[in-house]
Amino acid sequence: MSLLSLAARMRIGRARASIGRASPRGLIATLAGCALAALAQAEPYRGPLFDAHLHYNVEATAVYPVEDVLARMQRAGVRAIVANSRPNDGTKSLAAAKAQAAAAGVTVVPFIRLYRNRADYTGWFGDETIYAMVLSELERGTAAGPYRGIGEFHLYDSANANGAVAKKLMQLAQARQLVVLAHVDDAAIDLLMAHAPEARVIWAHTGIGGVAPERVRALLDRYPTLMGELSYRPGLTAGDGRLSPEWKGMLTAFPERFLVGSDTWINGRWSAYEDLMRAARLWLGDLPPAVAERIAWRNGAQIFGIADPAN
Ligand SMILES: [Zn+2]
Repeated sequence: MSLLSLAARMRIGRARASIGRASPRGLIATLAGCALAALAQAEPYRGPLFDAHLHYNVEATAVYPVEDVLARMQRAGVRAIVANSRPNDGTKSLAAAKAQAAAAGVTVVPFIRLYRNRADYTGWFGDETIYAMVLSELERGTAAGPYRGIGEFHLYDSANANGAVAKKLMQLAQARQLVVLAHVDDAAIDLLMAHAPEARVIWAHTGIGGVAPERVRALLDRYPTLMGELSYRPGLTAGDGRLSPEWKGMLTAFPERFLVGSDTWINGRWSAYEDLMRAARLWLGDLPPAVAERIAWRNGAQIFGIADPAN
C-alpha cells in the first residue's frame, strides 16, 4: 500500500465517520422539515359543493336507489347537482324525489341528456329525432322545475360540431338560456361557440385530452360565457393529489370560470363518490379560500340561482 493510498483511505474513513455523525442530525432536520411542510399545507376545503357533472344513468339506477345517491351527496357535502342521465328517466326520478332531496339538503338542477341509449353517442349531432326529443322534454319539464341545460354530449370528432342538429341545439340553448355541458376538444369549442356566441357552455373536463393550459386560457379570454368543469382534467393535480402550480395559476386567474364535477359515468364512480369529492376538497384547499369557495360552490349556484345552504 502506498502512502498516497493510505492517506486516501484515511480521508475516506474520516468522511464516513463524519457521515455517520451527521446522518441522524440530517434525518431529524429532514423530518422536521417535512413536519413543517405538512403544517404549512392547507386544510381541505370544507364548504358546500356544487357537483356540475353528475350522471344517474340506467346502470346506476339499478344499483343505487335515489335515497342512496342522495345520501352519498349529503355525506360528501354536495348541496346542488347538475343531474343528467341516459335515458332521461334517472334525472326525472331525482327531480321527483323532492322530499328526499330536501331532507338531504340537495338542490337538483335537471339537464336534458341527448342519449336515449348508447347508440345515440355517435350520431346525435345529425339526428332530428333527438332534436324533437329535446323539444318535447323541454315542454314537459320535471318535478323539480324546468330543464336548465342540455348535455352532457360528446363529440369524438370535432368536425361533427357542425352537424345540423348540433348547430340547432346550440342555437336553441342560446335562445332559451339553457346551459350546455359539452365533452369536446378545443377545436369543437370554437365551432360550437360560432353557432351561438352567447350560449353558456360548461366544457366537461376542460378538455379531457389535456389541451395545453395556454390554449384553455385563450378560449376563456375569447368566450366570456365559457366555463370549465374539472373532473379528469390532466395536470390539475400532482401525484399527491395537491393542486399543480400551473393550475393554481389558472384557477386563481379565472376564479369565476371553473366548476367541480364527479362525472359518475360508470357505477365505479358512484361507489367512490365520497372519495371523489374528498379529493376535490383536497386540491381546493390549495387555493385562496375565496377562490376555492367560488369554484366549489358559488359559480354553479349563481348560474342557476341557488341560494346558499342555511347550514
Ligand atoms: Zn360525463
